[in-house]
Order: sequence, then structure tokens, then C-alpha cells
Amino acid sequence: MAPIVTNLRDHKRPQSAGNRRRISILGATGSVGRNTIDLIERGGDAFTVEVLTANTNAEALAAQARKLRPRCVAIGDAQAYGALKEALAGTGIEVMAGPSGMVEAAARPADWTMAAIVGAAGLEPTLAAIRRGGVVAIANKETLVCAGDVVMAAVREHGATLLPVDSEHNAIFQVFDFDRIEAVEKIILTASGGPFRKLSLAEMRDVTPAQAVAHPVWSMGAKISVDSATLMNKGLELIEASFLFPVPEPRLEILIHPQSVIHSMVAYIDGSVLAQLGSPDMRTPIAHALAWPGRMAAPSPRLDLAVLGSLSFETPDPARFPALTLARHALRSGGSVPTTLNAANEVAVEAFLANRIGFLDIARIVERTLEQLPRTPVSTLDEVRATDEEARRIAAVLVGTR
Ligand code: NAD
Ligand code: MG
Repeated sequence: MAPIVTNLRDHKRPQSAGNRRRISILGATGSVGRNTIDLIERGGDAFTVEVLTANTNAEALAAQARKLRPRCVAIGDAQAYGALKEALAGTGIEVMAGPSGMVEAAARPADWTMAAIVGAAGLEPTLAAIRRGGVVAIANKETLVCAGDVVMAAVREHGATLLPVDSEHNAIFQVFDFDRIEAVEKIILTASGGPFRKLSLAEMRDVTPAQAVAHPVWSMGAKISVDSATLMNKGLELIEASFLFPVPEPRLEILIHPQSVIHSMVAYIDGSVLAQLGSPDMRTPIAHALAWPGRMAAPSPRLDLAVLGSLSFETPDPARFPALTLARHALRSGGSVPTTLNAANEVAVEAFLANRIGFLDIARIVERTLEQLPRTPVSTLDEVRATDEEARRIAAVLVGTR
């Protein structure tokens, strides 16, 4: 893997148009998108919305647009263009559609962009926002997993600032001493363990999509909820962390912490361990990224440690959660391997959600896809696209044989 880089130490103050910060939200109708909108609405005059995007839900996007009055909206599904245009008739809001409309909207001027599309589908819109050179708050971890080198090169080239929104990475960002990188001994990513933390492999075989998306602590979109159940989410976060923080793979650890109160930790050479704590509510890390380098009020439930009483920790079990080993292998291998891991996982999770494969097939399909697609170097967007497509093709065949 290319040298680990970060731009987070170059603390640049966000620009502003007058006093109001111009905000774009990619993936506005999703879980992270809606939480971002909640904070923006509470922020009153502090923000003005430039762009909102969604994939297929024209009705939800139109309702958000009527309320927030962005300059422009984009919908991924080109067939939904007519319905969206009609729903916004007379508002003066520009409507775009299809993948190219999404990228064009993402490239519009803004001071701060929330990248909250799910999956590798977020790569090109997120890159368009990065190329514009403002602050990009990144929730869309798959973008970093499938194209980390390409994304970080674009961040450097265009002077963008990437702020981590994933709760673990946001926690690390809050306690990481970028001026004393050599004093960092390790990063400890915490994981709730998901809904199947205590199940045996035999019990996991028959779990349903409904059980997998019912996360015990966090309320999130379907794909990340399944990833949390397989622990692939933590595997993706390991790779995400390797791009955001200058700490090599052997010093990135994972610790199961079912209450999700400690969002992650950084251990230093003097034995100090710094952690960020909070209730499991995404509005805290989103607010941190939105106000950075300042702070703003967020309505997340307050942490009451006396009521909680105790916090617990466990070592993750690679035998029951093979996704962790696959992701660590992908991180160590670098090149096209993380791209393949991500693409195969997206195909397998979609198939599981559609009841076409079993829960344990998800990691098996990822593993078989990794075996079938040899590692190649990846340094351009075209190379990422080629690997992503080939991995999806292989994984789809494997889904068909289950
Ligand atoms: P979600 O499924 O609730 O929402 C996804 C959003 O992306 C929606 O607005 C949807 O319309 C849009 N979208 C989906 N497919 C698209 C496509 N092909 N083209 C364009 N737009 C598309 O997902 P979420 O839970 O909000 O997660 C979003 C991202 O944030 C994911 O990468 C996830 O891993 C990450 N994340 C989420 C949480 C959380 O609490 N939900 C926490 C940390 C990180
Ligand atoms: Mg997370």
C-alpha cells in the first residue's frame, strides 16, 4: 500500500459566504443525511443549503428541498427526474438526474459537503466535491476503502480538507496528536459487536435480514447494519483508518465494546490512552465535523455514566466473524484487494437483503472473490472502476451458485 497520508493536520478554517456556510448533502435522504439536516435546521441562520441528492426517493428529496430551499437537487435514478421536477415546480430549484447529474451537483460551489451516499456509488460524487477543494465530511467509508489512494491524492492535489464522520474515526480525530505522530503507539477502534455478538456459527446460519438490520445500539441504513452484523463494517473501518491516520496496520487494533459509549481510543508511548465518549447518536460526530474547528450544540442524549454503571470489552472472535480477517488481509495486500473486498461485499450484502443467500454466505462470497481476482496495482480511477466491475461480476456469479 502507498505511504499512509493525512491532510487532517493542516487545519484550514472553512470559508464562508457572508456569515452563512454553504452546505451540500450527498445522500440527503439516508440516515446520515437526515441527521445532518436535523442539525442544519437547528443551526438556523448559520447555514444555507446548496445541493441535496438522493438515489430513488423523489418524494422524500422533494419534501426536503421544499423545506431547505437548496439551489439544486439531483436524483440518481434518471426515471425519477419527471416526478421530482413536477414536485418542485414553481420553486426555482434546479433539478438534475442520473449519475452525471449527481457528479455535476456535487461539484457545485459549497463550503462544506457531507458525503453520505452508501457504497462505491458515492465515489465519483465525493471525488467531485473533493476536486472543488472545500471541506468534505466523509461518512461514505466505501469510497475510501475502494479508492483510498486515488481519493487521498485528489485531497492533496486540490487542497481539500477531509473530516471523518464515522463515529470511530471522528473519535480518533478528536484525540489524535497530529503534531506528535511518533508518540502514538496504537489506535484502538471499538466495535459494538452487532446483533449476533453472542451467536454461534450454527445459530448465525439461519438469521434473517430483519434480524441483521435490527442493530442493538445504532440506528442506521440497511447496508451498514448488515456490515455491523458480519463485522465487515469494522473491517472497512480498519481500512478507512489506515487512509485517514498515519499509523501502520499492525498498530490498528479492534476491541468489542457492546455499549458503544467509547467511540475509539488512541494509545501513546507514555502509557496514556485518550478516548472520546458519547451516547451512540451520529449527530455528535456530524456536529463535530459541521462546526470544526469550533463546536456547536447537538441534541444527542447526554451520557450518564452513573446510570450506565459499567462498560464492558471483549476481544473479537475471528472464527465467528471471518470478515475481520478478510479485511485485514485486504489492508495488508493493498492495491486492488480492498477494492475487490468492498465490491464483493456490496454484492453479497444486497443478495442477503434480498433473501438470495444466507448470512454466512456473505463472507464466503467475499473470500472466494478475493481468491479469484488477482491483486493489481491501483493508482487511477479507471483502474478502480475496472477492479470494482470485475469483482462485482465474479461475486454475482457466486451469488447465483448459492
Ligand atoms: P442509507 O442507506 O440510510 O442512505 C444512503 C443514501 O445514499 C440515501 O440518501 C440514498 O438515496 C443514497 N444512495 C444510495 N445509493 C445511491 C446511488 N447508487 N447513487 C446515489 N445515491 C445513492 O445509508 P446511511 O446509513 O446513511 O450510510 C451512508 C454512509 O455513511 C455509508 O457509507 C455508511 O457506511 C456511512 N456511515 C453511516 C452511519 C450511520 O449511522 N448510518 C455511521 C457511520 C458511517
Ligand atoms: Mg462506525
